Amino acid sequence: MGNLKSKQLSIEIFPPHNMEETHEILQYFRDHHDFAPSYIAVTNGAGGSENNQPLEFAQTIQTELNIPVMMHVTSLYQDYDSITALIDQLHHYQISRLLILRGDLNANVPTNVTFPHASDLIKYLKQHTDFELAGACYPEKHPEASTLTADINNLKIKIANGASQLVTQIVFDNQKYYHFTDQLEKLGVTTPVEVGIMPCTNLDQIDKITQLTKRPLPDNLIEQLQQVQDDSQKMFNVGINYAIAQIKDLLAHGVTKIHLYPMNNPDVIEQIRIKTASLFANN
Ligand code: FAD
Repeated sequence: MGNLKSKQLSIEIFPPHNMEETHEILQYFRDHHDFAPSYIAVTNGAGGSENNQPLEFAQTIQTELNIPVMMHVTSLYQDYDSITALIDQLHHYQISRLLILRGDLNANVPTNVTFPHASDLIKYLKQHTDFELAGACYPEKHPEASTLTADINNLKIKIANGASQLVTQIVFDNQKYYHFTDQLEKLGVTTPVEVGIMPCTNLDQIDKITQLTKRPLPDNLIEQLQQVQDDSQKMFNVGINYAIAQIKDLLAHGVTKIHLYPMNNPDVIEQIRIKTASLFANN
């Protein structure tokens, strides 16, 4: 029973671009082997990768670091042949936990409509494999959805088709997350949700995050960063402290699963690790 209530911190990492970055991020976890995130999620570009590097990276995390992995898989550009091949590879690399995403539309990649939505691939995988399947959700609604209710109704298809866990888009305003969970409750969704938190540690990230989420960051966070924009260490501290305050507030509101988006920055992971150690210590 204890595990059901235990507080968990998971971490999202994108497959590093080169050996140096790979070494740096893996070395961080080697150096902190007493730090045990509940799992590491490994992202995957829409259309997958032209090589096995993300899968090999994920396997290293599992076998060498002994940390469970959740591999991201995008649906939009897959067909039955590519998915069959991917299933074989996932078995080969002993990866059994997947976050299924549609992927963003990309004008340069021809669209194959075998799996137009994440829920379509979730349904196929649920029928043909034993993978543990998760899906994404959007506390401020997905940008393409007409309303939050319409988006949650689509989310219910994802769940009905086999997603047993949900991970949110990056949340900067906890009130929006609490509103979202109220709506989930009203619409009968009880699937566990992990809340995505990303420390925004410099001004350049504001545009990137806005492009990614298609939502503006809260004014008060932008103002705090602007006030110290000549001092990169102070900006870093602002972003970390903002995220810590969010995490504390979420845990105080009964949230048990936090998903950290550190953008592969070991310094971000380290600060969050140190400053939340006592919050996650009862696991
Ligand atoms: P869907 O669930 O298919 O939803 C997309 C839109 O279609 C929504 O508006 C939804 O309401 C609607 N919809 C859903 N189902 C139906 C249906 N059956 N009928 C009609 N409408 C429907 N992208 C990557 O390329 N790689 C990654 O690794 C990656 N990781 C991510 C991790 C997280 C936690 C999140 C939140 C996003 C991630 N993304 C990633 C981005 C994601 O691919 C985009 O947000 C994409 O636009 C939507 O993906 P989805 O799985 O939510 O799509």
